Amino acid sequence: MTEAAQAAAARASELCDAALAGDRLALARLLTAVENRTPVAESALRRLYPLAGGAHLVGITGPPGSGKSTLVSALIATARAAGRAVGVIAVDPSSPITGGALLGDRVRMQAYAADSDVFIRSMASRGHAGGLASTSAAAAAVLDAAGFDLILLETVGTGQSEVEVAASADTTVVLEAPEMGDEVQAIKAGLLEVADIVVVNKGDRPGAQRTAAQLRAMLTASARVGQGIVDKPRPKQPQVLVTTALSGDGVPELLAAIDGLRGTATASTAARATRAEAQVWAILADRLRAELSKPGLRAAAAATLAQVAAHELDPFTAADRLLEEIARARN
Ligand code: GDP
Repeated sequence: MTEAAQAAAARASELCDAALAGDRLALARLLTAVENRTPVAESALRRLYPLAGGAHLVGITGPPGSGKSTLVSALIATARAAGRAVGVIAVDPSSPITGGALLGDRVRMQAYAADSDVFIRSMASRGHAGGLASTSAAAAAVLDAAGFDLILLETVGTGQSEVEVAASADTTVVLEAPEMGDEVQAIKAGLLEVADIVVVNKGDRPGAQRTAAQLRAMLTASARVGQGIVDKPRPKQPQVLVTTALSGDGVPELLAAIDGLRGTATASTAARATRAEAQVWAILADRLRAELSKPGLRAAAAATLAQVAAHELDPFTAADRLLEEIARARN
């Protein structure tokens, strides 16, 4: 082990010991390491991953303004009233570097600052578009190992990557606000395809029940043959619930529905396989990139990429060639 690797391992060990003993600052530092994909994170995850796997990871997604952050706060309050520890990871791929909490999260964090059984963390993508799902999965594993048994993965935007992140949770909740347009908005984003539970929020607004009825009719009409961006089995049609996040109406029922899906076929194997795949592929890509930036290969790799850029070489041949170079260098 190099000196740097030794230092990272020692730091990781220290942070893990503290985080597992309930030190929230250490936990926050571990999550920063995970977000930045540092060697400390790698060392920590090697230790923490086997301790994780028990939490229920719940993705919360939906169009901006539908009430996701308000609903997450209401879910926290409901879960806390039942004495449960709640972790929240708010994923915001649209702001490359926030360097801290999003505004809404800061407000929420303040509300729970004194409560060590609530941990809220915002994560930006930091340019790892493809790695967002793996980074959030790694962050969830850290919270899981630290004893948070309900983890809410809230996505802030509405792009494809956010949907993928939310859908990589054990259970996916898709929000909809009543009468946001002629068509129900979630349809446009393909969101319904990944939903285990559809929530019509703003139940205090006229039209909420009508929107819920429309959604139920729509979901019944569509045969729901395993389409969608991730292959999640669809043993059942998603439930459609109405909540008023502002007052908390319907939120205990939502939490009960979420709990009801815990450990079901939907919540277990397929989503976990998707998450495992995202994590391992991202690590493989990082490893390959690291190999190619080693002194022995860096120049050759750069030359090969330049050839592709100049259209002197096709990218497939280039990839094959680089794999061969790596294999040769490792022997
Ligand atoms: P997000 O963008 O999906 O996270 O939505 P927010 O949680 O920020 O909520 C958007 C707006 O809708 C805010 O002004 C909330 O106060 C409001 N809102 C959220 N839930 C409800 C609700 O149940 N009823 C009503 N009337 N407004 C709500």
